[in-house]
Amino acid sequence: MKKVVKFGGSSLASAQQFEKVGKIIRADETRRYVVPSAPGKRFDGDIKVTDMLYDCYHTAEAGKNFDEKLQNIHVRYREIIDGLKLELSLESQFAEISKNFKEKAGENYAASRGEFLNGIIMAEYLGYEFVDAAEVIFFDEEGNFNEEKTNACLSERLSHIERAVVPGFYGCAADGKVKTFSRGGSDITGSIVARAVHADLYENWTDVSGFLVTDPRIVKDPAVISTITYKELRELSYMGATVLHEDSIFPLRQEGIPINVRNTNKPEDNGTLIVESTCSKPRYTITGIAGKKGFASINIEKDMMNTEIGFGRKVLQVFEENGLSFEHTPSGIDTFTVYVHQDEFEAKEQQIIAGLHRAVHPDSIDLESDLALIAVVGRGMRRTRGTAGRIFSALAHAHVNVKMIDQGSSELNIIIGVENRDFEAATRAIYDIFVTSQL
Ligand code: ASP
Repeated sequence: MKKVVKFGGSSLASAQQFEKVGKIIRADETRRYVVPSAPGKRFDGDIKVTDMLYDCYHTAEAGKNFDEKLQNIHVRYREIIDGLKLELSLESQFAEISKNFKEKAGENYAASRGEFLNGIIMAEYLGYEFVDAAEVIFFDEEGNFNEEKTNACLSERLSHIERAVVPGFYGCAADGKVKTFSRGGSDITGSIVARAVHADLYENWTDVSGFLVTDPRIVKDPAVISTITYKELRELSYMGATVLHEDSIFPLRQEGIPINVRNTNKPEDNGTLIVESTCSKPRYTITGIAGKKGFASINIEKDMMNTEIGFGRKVLQVFEENGLSFEHTPSGIDTFTVYVHQDEFEAKEQQIIAGLHRAVHPDSIDLESDLALIAVVGRGMRRTRGTAGRIFSALAHAHVNVKMIDQGSSELNIIIGVENRDFEAATRAIYDIFVTSQL
């Protein structure tokens, strides 16, 4: 049994948090490969070390004095080292960072130092070997993650190391410089390491006890999802639910490695298990509800549209030519509607309307804005009759007018369009009917 464990910034923000992490790792000897983030926020309003590094580097790049800013970052690490009573000094690393900042080593290099330094501390604290991510994780000429090279190199390197710390978030670009993933990218490193060592489980430790059925800003203390499939997760993350970096799923899917999202501050909680597939029945009919505001719909009407071959293609081509991606296209006999992000659409509105007139000569084009989309997601819906009925009667009771309904053929999700102002009430109504009423 082999586990890869990734700890997020809030789990490593202070010596006290490091101690919790140490306890977790020592409690299970199969937790052999550790991927740390940079120290995150210790309290509301605190600044993440990654953001301090960006800021410090921008000062350096502008040719201004950045000593104090770098010193403040050093203090954050020193507090952790002293709090853990380690015999470790980062003086030489900071001297090198300072020199490289002066030589304008780049923003990516700067940001990556947060994980690099935390990795050194973590390795010392645990007695694990430190493996610099820049030596084992690679990007290609185009700046994309180089899966093949990384997997070969990382697998080989870690096969000789029983226990290692690999800092998250960065790797080595084709030109040999340090390059980072996008923000929150330590999750991706964790997946890459899990794949390379053929881990049985990838534990992703954060500050929440897993994925919640819905947004806690809308529903107070929502239930935790105990098991979710990759596909369900993808649907929910696309609609705005965030805990895990989206790109962290791909390396694991290929190997079918499950991810367990856990809470460092509540290690007794089981968290959420993310799997390729499962026959475990979800606790409720639905797995999760997520949504986003800020959509616009373009309703195109034309008599006898239905018989006009190529109508849909011509409409969508106009959006394509204007560089806009569409979200949904519900249609009727003589109507065709396109849902798009409002802010992107507004910038191109008149070109698109003119383009549509030219392309399909509609009878009318009607625009509607300030719409929200809500995705109700769940593998359990496939086998259950009456799910849609329950959703819509709940919405009717909550006095929410439904503007659009779209059910994917996988029956994994039902997308509902409502007005922005009904978004919260609609989410609550759906949550209540499926979850609260079952408690
Ligand atoms: N430290 C990086 C960030 O703040 C990466 C991560 O934490 O995953 O985005």
